[in-house]
Amino acid sequence: MQDFAHTPLTGTSGPQVEDAERYSRQVLFHGINIEGQRHLAHGRVAVVGVGATGAASAGLLARAGVGKLTLIDRDFVEASNLQRQILFDEEDAAAALPKAEAARRHILRFNSSIGVISRIADVVPSTIEDLLSDSDLVLDCTDNFETRYLLNDYCVREGKPWIYAAAIGAYAATMNILPVVEAGQTRSWTNAPSACLACLFPSPPDGQVQTCDTAGILGSAVNFAASLQVTEAMKFLTRQAGIMRRTLLSFDLWTGERAELSAATPRVGCEVCGKRSFRYLNGEGRPHITLCGRNSVQIHEHNRSVDFAELKERLSPLGRVRSNGMLLRFERPPHTLTVFPDGRALVQGTTDIGLARSLYARFVGS
Ligand SMILES: [Zn+2]
Repeated sequence: MQDFAHTPLTGTSGPQVEDAERYSRQVLFHGINIEGQRHLAHGRVAVVGVGATGAASAGLLARAGVGKLTLIDRDFVEASNLQRQILFDEEDAAAALPKAEAARRHILRFNSSIGVISRIADVVPSTIEDLLSDSDLVLDCTDNFETRYLLNDYCVREGKPWIYAAAIGAYAATMNILPVVEAGQTRSWTNAPSACLACLFPSPPDGQVQTCDTAGILGSAVNFAASLQVTEAMKFLTRQAGIMRRTLLSFDLWTGERAELSAATPRVGCEVCGKRSFRYLNGEGRPHITLCGRNSVQIHEHNRSVDFAELKERLSPLGRVRSNGMLLRFERPPHTLTVFPDGRALVQGTTDIGLARSLYARFVGS
């Protein structure tokens, strides 16, 4: 038997389970009961990427009464998201609200007793510590492998569990990564480590990877991936890490095909969890600059604070400018530049990185 001893979480004073009626059906479930519900109320979870999977997972966690959610996303809501991204509506798309903030507002309408923080940001080596350090569990709801390998590096280094999830076409896949807790790291749990992402796949897939641009995506596949991910999260948060699944599970909802690959133990010689070499955290991975399904390029190498009033005045003679306080949009057909307060920008209407960089330099600054 593995040892799954728990000690009390330190430094948290999450909400109490005050609303007995709200959670009554969940408390009746034998795997949760009242003690589990109290643990959920003290849970602190980061959701990385609030697109389709992230919105579904965040919604499930919020309804389940998880005490603190940090929602992290770099993008804003558009009409094409509404087919599958269940926390957004037409008003959000019309206002081009950042996804993290739109999701926070919707969640608080159905559960105002939990804490929800929106972080409009890109998860990169320079921001990851600030974005994830105060969560006990990280849910991967991203759409790209570069960010997943970065999450893997960070979470293995910190001894922080994370849960991979992916959906494409009618296919969903998920895996729990339970890193070893190093001496000196204070955690609410101890465990026998599982394999990490790099144990199974030492590097990201080469060449053309199917994306929702090429293979499409079913809302049902997204919700299935989110359901699997959140159920595993609930096991962890209710201090039952010992019954978490230790496989990479994939399921095709269209054909019913199912596959499982063992991820029970670390691979001997793994660069990340074995040799503790954190290439992505050191900035050696490829930066991810195109956005799935968006005909867009992200420009994120400029770290500067942007004065929206000044930029609006400067760009108004050149095209249509709108700002909602959280971002500024400059439309100059066929391109639209969306600029965030930290200088990051999304250039829509192209996947040509050189063109996107030159538009940024011309209109925002070099
Ligand atoms: Zn590993």
